Amino acid sequence: MNRIGAIAVTGSGRGIGAAIAIALARAGCTVGCLSRSGGLPGRDDLTPALATRMIAVHCDVDDEKSVKNALAAVSAQAGGLWGLVNNAGVHITGPSDHFATATYLQVMHTNAAAVFAASREAYPHLLANQGGIIINIGSFFDKLGVKRNLAYCASKAAVGAITRCLAVEWAPQGIRVVDVAPGYIETDLNRAAMSETSLREFLAKRIPGRKPGTADEVGDIVAMIATRDFGFLTGETIYLDGGQSINH
Ligand code: NDP
Repeated sequence: MNRIGAIAVTGSGRGIGAAIAIALARAGCTVGCLSRSGGLPGRDDLTPALATRMIAVHCDVDDEKSVKNALAAVSAQAGGLWGLVNNAGVHITGPSDHFATATYLQVMHTNAAAVFAASREAYPHLLANQGGIIINIGSFFDKLGVKRNLAYCASKAAVGAITRCLAVEWAPQGIRVVDVAPGYIETDLNRAAMSETSLREFLAKRIPGRKPGTADEVGDIVAMIATRDFGFLTGETIYLDGGQSINH
């Protein structure tokens, strides 16, 4: 794979996406920062030097045209595109006996269909680059049964399946596809739930290291996978959950 041009990160304005964008820029990459605000990652440690490696573009992953235009804009400004991180996601919960089909489809659309669509739109750019990498941000909920989380769990299981299918289909073109699946990471996505003592106590018991992970840990592993030539690594889901999902 040639690393010519940029790697694009969806949902890079905050949370894990912002951490991924920062980690990639720190690793020396030009980063296409795709977000609905169209701004740079909202982080205090975004230095002017890192900002010069970033191209901020508006992108709503629910809108295929917006994704297509954003990737084309990043590619045009950076002189190509060699990678995509599908990070944007939503977490909508509720009891399954009252969960509306429209809400289920909304979660599936943003978390799964948009991952497929953005990957498809990135494909011609990666092909022009003679290969590249797509990293999808899944979740360890992809293999768990979690009350009130049917749509989210189904969407993240779909991310694992999309990763495997694209990996085998596009390997001959030199495109690798990897799913990084975090466990509990404290961000806006779960801050309210995390502030509840009951969840804190539950996690202290369930996570062997007794505490959640950080967005920067996810950013660092994504940057490592993106920037090192792990040529035989594709199609896999890599869990980053402090051992929670394998803990007896
Ligand atoms: P946050 O809620 O903090 O951030 C979600 C991000 O997704 C925001 O940048 C948001 O943009 C963006 N987003 C949502 N919908 C869209 C859309 N339609 N178009 C463009 N961007 C969109 O969540 P996290 O940072 O925690 O989550 C990031 C990813 O990590 C998600 O895929 C999530 O499922 C996954 N994950 C998170 C875990 C956790 O414990 N936090 C655990 C496992 C996986 P905006 O700022 O515009 O709203």
